[in-house]
Amino acid sequence: MLRARADVTTCKLGSRVLTRFAPSPTGYLHLGHVVNAIYVWGVARALGGRVLLRIEDHDRIRCRPEYDEALLEDLDWLGFVPDVAPGGRKSLRQSDDSEPYERAVDDLRRTATVYACDCSRKDIGGEHYFGRCRTRGLDERPDRGLRVAIPPGIERFDDLLLGSQEQTPASQCGDLLLRDRDGNWTYQFAVAVDDYGQAVNLVIRGADLLSSTGRQIRLARMLGRVEMPLFLHHPLIEKKPGEKLSKSDRDTGVRDLRRLGLAPAEVIGRAAAAVGLVETMRPIEAASVAELFR
Ligand code: GLU
Repeated sequence: MLRARADVTTCKLGSRVLTRFAPSPTGYLHLGHVVNAIYVWGVARALGGRVLLRIEDHDRIRCRPEYDEALLEDLDWLGFVPDVAPGGRKSLRQSDDSEPYERAVDDLRRTATVYACDCSRKDIGGEHYFGRCRTRGLDERPDRGLRVAIPPGIERFDDLLLGSQEQTPASQCGDLLLRDRDGNWTYQFAVAVDDYGQAVNLVIRGADLLSSTGRQIRLARMLGRVEMPLFLHHPLIEKKPGEKLSKSDRDTGVRDLRRLGLAPAEVIGRAAAAVGLVETMRPIEAASVAELFR
């Protein structure tokens, strides 16, 4: 599937592929994560690249240490081993250091309008934020919510599976929240800062995040990133048509499948079959997922 695109990828990236596996510890690892891991490790290895493990625990309210620990343990059990991350560490945790995000806010302030905003979801009434607080600036900061004004315009990017894409972040979502009212950095902002700061040049994730990509590219551009990563948004496991997997689905939790006596290769095989990477279910070792993409 990726054979024809592999040359394009290496030639477009111009350097060795660095991708990331970036789970949020808000629940246990499930088959949806396993599908993502198959794509991340499989494509990275097929292209001779490396995988960075980033624990996305920016939401300090929803993330829990027990999920964080379980996630690492399940990943290890499955046999997906990350390569050494920048700084010589095996994994990076967003909560380890808030300085990159603070610095990025300072960078944005030089070229864009960053303002305090404590509008609630109810105030906004949808996905699009019209900039009600835009004139507030940062002088009065009774809260910790921060937004940045997003200039209009189109963002274009290449998706290795879906082809070329076009998105218009300003009209899709309006001004982006950088930090919420509880003081948590937001997903869009933290990912844009991290993918840039960690020099990730290939982003591989589920198709449910496709609409975020234009926003993250726009933020990265505003932060000064010149070379954008390539993207691959892969199919998701669908239970019933249109219904997404949830982390609380017991029948798809890696822990539950382990308890039922399945071997790691059987869990990986089940995930691969669920998204049509193989026609019929067969055991697949983590070490050989690259074969699915060669
Ligand atoms: N942390 C996100 C999640 O677990 C994935 C983010 C990404 O790949 O950009 O859904």
